[in-house]
Amino acid sequence: MNQSKFCNEIIGYQCIKCKREYPFEDMYEGCPRCKSDGKPSSVKPIYQSLFSGENWLPFERPVTLGEGGTPLLDVTTKHGKFYIKNEALNPTGSHKDRMSSFTISMAIANGYQGVVAASSGNAGLSIASYASYANIPCVIISTENLNKQLASYIKSTGAELILTKTSMERWELTEKYVEEGFLSATNYINPPAGSQPIGVQAYKLIARECYRQLGFTPNAMAVPVSRGDLIWGIYEGFSELKQVKLIGKIPKLFAVEPFERMTKVLEGEEYTSHFDQYTNLKSIAGETVTWQALQAVIESNGHAINVTEEEAIDSQAVMSRKGIHLELSSATAIAAIKHIRRDQLVEENDSIVAVTTSSRFTPI
Ligand SMILES: [Zn+2]
Repeated sequence: MNQSKFCNEIIGYQCIKCKREYPFEDMYEGCPRCKSDGKPSSVKPIYQSLFSGENWLPFERPVTLGEGGTPLLDVTTKHGKFYIKNEALNPTGSHKDRMSSFTISMAIANGYQGVVAASSGNAGLSIASYASYANIPCVIISTENLNKQLASYIKSTGAELILTKTSMERWELTEKYVEEGFLSATNYINPPAGSQPIGVQAYKLIARECYRQLGFTPNAMAVPVSRGDLIWGIYEGFSELKQVKLIGKIPKLFAVEPFERMTKVLEGEEYTSHFDQYTNLKSIAGETVTWQALQAVIESNGHAINVTEEEAIDSQAVMSRKGIHLELSSATAIAAIKHIRRDQLVEENDSIVAVTTSSRFTPI
């Protein structure tokens, strides 16, 4: 049994919106003050000291199935030359494994009864796999239209799978499990904040890996976004590298979305608004924008990029012909390169990394 313990560097949390500080006690719903104002926001851990970029992680020995250290590949397509950070090669086929590693480690460190996650996608399979490896009870709550193959994979881990009629019911049920002593791996408030902040810390490693693998800081990155855990984690990672003076500038972060959500917020709509539109790009679907996703884009001088389903299908095919097999939502990062180049959102010779989040072989 893994005896995950928190490193003693974390001394509290800070709200990423109002900057209020809180003690290091578990916070599921983001900043209480911002939530009560109807403007939910995530919190982030405050680390006591900074000796090197390496020390800003919550665990020295997290539960691991071998996630991370994913390849950074040099690709040339009709959209020009760019790089991909291929998160599809994580153990269950998506970037979510990084977060699951830290979330399950936290459940063990703090003695939770088990872990619960509301997910209709690859997060459910990921958290169920890590919980199973660590021998802790796991409940995955999804809707009745969950992909049957994915449902069978989730059940095969030994996790309990509960199917609800609506998305909202998933969140209500998750809250019930939380009251019973389960750690929630996913957001369940509405409007949403981000996922559990210790789990999100794992995405900082993508920034560090990119910097090491390239040997320089990329000028821009395209990141598929739903709730924005990934783009925020990457932003935090680069932000810390800048604080320790390893890099001079944070890459422009482009949030890739399936229809205008953040685009509208950047044009002046409230980030707590609902943006209701159907999309088959399920991993980045959702009616909401989070403060964390918005901040990552604004603070890095990035932008929101809308990619259609047709563009994603085309990019998926383009990448398959390179031998790289991406889930449809993941392929939006490739399609975004075309927009970024066409709209001259970067300089002509600037380097761009597309973060390809998940594998075509994991059913969604
Ligand atoms: Zn706050």
